[in-house]
Amino acid sequence: MSESSTSIIVVGAAGRMGSRIAALALDDPRFALAACVVRDGSSRDGEPLAARAASRSTPPLVLKNPKKALENAVSCHCVIDFSSDAAVLESIAIARASGAALLVGTTALSDRSVAALRDESRHRAVLHSANTSLGVAVTIDLVARACRLLGDGYHCSIVEAHHIAKKDAPSGTALRIADAVRHAGHTLNDDQILAMRGGDVVGEHTIRLAGAGEYLEITHRATTRDLFARGALHCAAWLRDRPAGWYTMNDVLGLPVRS
Ligand code: NAD
Repeated sequence: MSESSTSIIVVGAAGRMGSRIAALALDDPRFALAACVVRDGSSRDGEPLAARAASRSTPPLVLKNPKKALENAVSCHCVIDFSSDAAVLESIAIARASGAALLVGTTALSDRSVAALRDESRHRAVLHSANTSLGVAVTIDLVARACRLLGDGYHCSIVEAHHIAKKDAPSGTALRIADAVRHAGHTLNDDQILAMRGGDVVGEHTIRLAGAGEYLEITHRATTRDLFARGALHCAAWLRDRPAGWYTMNDVLGLPVRS
């Protein structure tokens, strides 16, 4: 690990997102993987992360349950949690033991977990984002700006498309975009948020502002789920040198922070 690389601990490392974050970090000299944490009782507890990964780290990197991660705490710059609501308190404890910033990408957090994260942000840099795509954060900012500039004479609608297996509709991202539209003073009825499900579409959101004689569209297309993992690593590198506080994706991108 070089002096400048950002060392991370991944909580939820056996999951879809966590395993991609760990794999991308291992392939990127700007990051060092300090530990990988799996659910207590996981059959993967104690397993080497992967033959290649294990051979590159000394001692070999094994998946640990949260208790073992705390007992053998290693220092790092940022704990990245993509797991479940139940893990948030454990991730806070691991970040404390590691002297690290905390990035939580886990969605659908309980009020109790969000309150615990807010509280912890008095002691370390904390960012919770249900969407760590940098492009989505910029899209939301562009939409808010367009709404403010064009005013209520332009009618807003949001169309989103996702793969057939996606359970929620409309997507959490569509709801965040809708929130930004309304926050910008625009009227947006729920029936103007349309969700399409089919095929293997990773994620597509189009925001249309239609006025007299013209319409404007802003579209974000996700082509791989890795964008969330890459965005999470980008956020971790940004968070590592921040003072204690509560941060958002807008802070990471230097965009205006909405009240
Ligand atoms: P997943 O089910 O594949 O992985 C979650 C992993 O967390 C599982 O391996 C599970 O065993 C593990 N886990 C659960 N409790 C744990 C604990 N206490 N300690 C350690 N590990 C624990 O799910 P996923 O697709 O990887 O998504 C994980 C979370 O990230 C979900 O909340 C999802 O909605 C969210 N997500 C966020 C973004 C984003 O951009 N922020 C993108 C995709 C998914």
